[in-house]
Amino acid sequence: MLDVSPYLVAPGTRVVLADHDPDAKTGFEGGKKAGKRALTPLNDRLSELQRRLWAESKQSLLVAIQAIDTGGKDSTIRKVFSGVNPQGVRVFSFGVPTETDLAHDYLWRVHNETPPDGYIKVFNRSHYEDVLVVRVKEMVAEEVWSRRYRHIREFERMLADEGTTIVKIFLNISKDEQRQRLQDRLDEPDKNWKFNKADLADRALWDDYQRAYEDALSETSTEHAPWYLVPANRKWFRNLVVSTILIETLEMMSPQYPEPEEGLDEVEIR
Ligand code: AMP
Ligand code: MG
Repeated sequence: MLDVSPYLVAPGTRVVLADHDPDAKTGFEGGKKAGKRALTPLNDRLSELQRRLWAESKQSLLVAIQAIDTGGKDSTIRKVFSGVNPQGVRVFSFGVPTETDLAHDYLWRVHNETPPDGYIKVFNRSHYEDVLVVRVKEMVAEEVWSRRYRHIREFERMLADEGTTIVKIFLNISKDEQRQRLQDRLDEPDKNWKFNKADLADRALWDDYQRAYEDALSETSTEHAPWYLVPANRKWFRNLVVSTILIETLEMMSPQYPEPEEGLDEVEIR
């Protein structure tokens, strides 16, 4: 299997995004065609592990996916979970908080979406927006966002203690790749709907977002809730890495089918 350890953000280390090549495909010999083909057996393996998790129903998996605009969150979810039984997987997309959300602490809406036993829950954006967009757009004072890293570490510690395994994925694309993807959204009629003029304002804040991501990843990659910094310019490689991370995580969780009822060998169906 692909070695994904180069993409783990070791707890306590300082992330410098400039040191991580978004074009990397370290550890995979082939090119795009072979890479796309290699995803199929991974989809099957993920599906099998998910079936076990569902049957066991004693623990859950939370996958938080973060990226800059056009980073590929949606298509990663589509490709990596293709073939997995939808019954046991939920995706929640965190958008702009509602008035009710804002009347509570920022983790309130997040806690409400965490997975129950047996489920995989995918966060498309997450509580990390509260130290990313909220910081970059100066929606709260530094004094407020800077203490949130500690809240988040402790919140995730609590979830882990109570049976939710957490894995966090940052899809790392380059500024050039973003330009290309935004241009595609303008040029291809089927993609026009995805073009958001507001994304250009965020693109102008590229460097600020990079700094905010560096701090978030450095401050909150822990043993109980690690970050993976995934090279994401090549979509096929990104999918392989994310899929492998989830498979390894589920293998570590080692979900087991429940013991069958006693005396099944004596049962006769007439
Ligand atoms: P999209 O992912 O394109 O549907 O956009 C969702 C939008 O919601 C993005 O622009 C996010 O920055 C924004 N958003 C998500 N979470 C928060 C938050 N906690 N505070 C402010 N904006 C947020
Ligand atoms: Mg947006």
